Amino acid sequence: MTTPTTNSVGTPIASDAHSQSVGADGAIALTDHYLVEKLAQFNRERVPERVVHAKGGGAYGRFVTTHDVSQYTRAALFQPGVETEMLARFSTVAGEQGSPDTWRDPRGFSLKFYTTEGNYDLVGNNTPVFFIRDGIKFPDFIHSQKRLPGSNLRDNDMQWDFWTLSPESAHQVTWLMGDRGLPKTWRHMDGFGSHTYQWINAAGERFWVKYHFKTNQGNDFLTQAEADQLAGSDADHHIRDLYAAIEDGEFPSWTLSVQVMPYEDAVSYRFNPFDLTKVWPHGDYPLIEVGQMTLDRNPENYFAEIEQAAFSPAHFVPGIAASPDKMLQARIFSYADAQRYRVGANHAELPVNRARATEVDSYDKDGQLRHTFRSPSRPVYAPNSFGGPAADAAAAGDDRGWQSDGELVRSAVTLHPEDDDFGQAGTLVREVLSDPQRERLVANIVGHVGKTRVPEIRERAIQYWKSVDAGLGARIEAGLTPISEARTSLASEPVRTPAVF
Ligand code: NDP
Repeated sequence: MTTPTTNSVGTPIASDAHSQSVGADGAIALTDHYLVEKLAQFNRERVPERVVHAKGGGAYGRFVTTHDVSQYTRAALFQPGVETEMLARFSTVAGEQGSPDTWRDPRGFSLKFYTTEGNYDLVGNNTPVFFIRDGIKFPDFIHSQKRLPGSNLRDNDMQWDFWTLSPESAHQVTWLMGDRGLPKTWRHMDGFGSHTYQWINAAGERFWVKYHFKTNQGNDFLTQAEADQLAGSDADHHIRDLYAAIEDGEFPSWTLSVQVMPYEDAVSYRFNPFDLTKVWPHGDYPLIEVGQMTLDRNPENYFAEIEQAAFSPAHFVPGIAASPDKMLQARIFSYADAQRYRVGANHAELPVNRARATEVDSYDKDGQLRHTFRSPSRPVYAPNSFGGPAADAAAAGDDRGWQSDGELVRSAVTLHPEDDDFGQAGTLVREVLSDPQRERLVANIVGHVGKTRVPEIRERAIQYWKSVDAGLGARIEAGLTPISEARTSLASEPVRTPAVF
């Protein structure tokens, strides 16, 4: 038997086909509150999309710790044999919600672990490095990858202008222009915590760590031509692939390993270990296996469980903490702030975001859309004499600091002998890529730089690649055809063509 449709407060409604009007062809009556409510609700269906990582998809799964890393961390989820429910969200970075999954871009690799010590979020990417090393540059970087203010078009001049004026981007741009900048599917890419984090063991000893999730499906990529074709024929290719694989019982999995650096090594290491534009070479700090992540359950509702999923690198658990990485520090503020703007002050109460294996017992209260509350006899302030919860430094694992002193400065100068902007990018080109991979790298860069139209920017791009590797730069220079419609200034609008009416 069909049950009656109701309005939002549970009262049956008369029609979903006809508004109430004065006669069949007359004016619509404002007393048709159901019509008004239906239209008003529809207008409010969207929350603001993420400024970055807007287009994405995800799934639930579990993480099982298969190896003993308790000598490095006391975090409950990383103790041998522990299985933890989790959520993963993958995304592109620059594209808007309707943009193709196959634009060349890093991919977000965000994980939420519902641990017995509260939620732990590891908000990473499919690359081990990033374009910049200081969060103060992030808004400018993203503006350069998005759209021009006048035409609302993406613009290669803007992208290469920013990259070449920010040479610390070279490692990430090299990685991005290579095969791994266009993963075949989300299942066929690795994930990285990217930042350096801190682990603390039961004895209070500290270590610096980097997380590597290696895909068990094998790394695979799309050529630029394949990606361009898919952008037109199936803009949701990556969302569809993950969803279908899980529906078909082909559960994707990743092996988590970590690199562990003794706390004391950081000062004298050859690179700044907290610089997000650098990796720690495996020869220096080999991978230590931790466990397996498997995604095995699709969300039932995309909006509720993926769009409203709120990840924050500030969500640590005892035994895991931040590091001096300046990008990480900026993100620790930014992510939670973005979720407060996008989803609301009480986003942590939503089912996808709330702790599942532990009780939330804080003094936070009220705010828009708060729907949980405690007994009126429970005190609402701390300290109190009436039995409310009390902060516990030992339970919190509040030994997560690091030694730091010095003047308050604005500087990136470090004492690490091999710190530079181009060295590790050159190693990737010369020592990791095969000949066919280098061929494709040159072709991809030539194609991308070839869309610049400002001579100064194009010249800077050639010098940038010569700084990565002289031979690579020369091949790129030789591959570029002259700018036909040169712009003589750095004005931000593209060359305009007359409108045709
Ligand atoms: P290794 O030879 O020990 O490792 C090379 C790394 O490069 C592996 O992680 C490999 O991943 C990855 N790789 C392979 N092909 C590509 C590609 N086409 N694009 C991007 N990465 C690829 O070298 P080192 O650790 O000494 O590092 C050398 C260079 O390798 C670095 O400068 C960095 O650019 C790159 N790299 C290093 C990583 C690290 O954490 N040390 C991580 C990723 C890249 P896989 O095993 O899956 O093939």
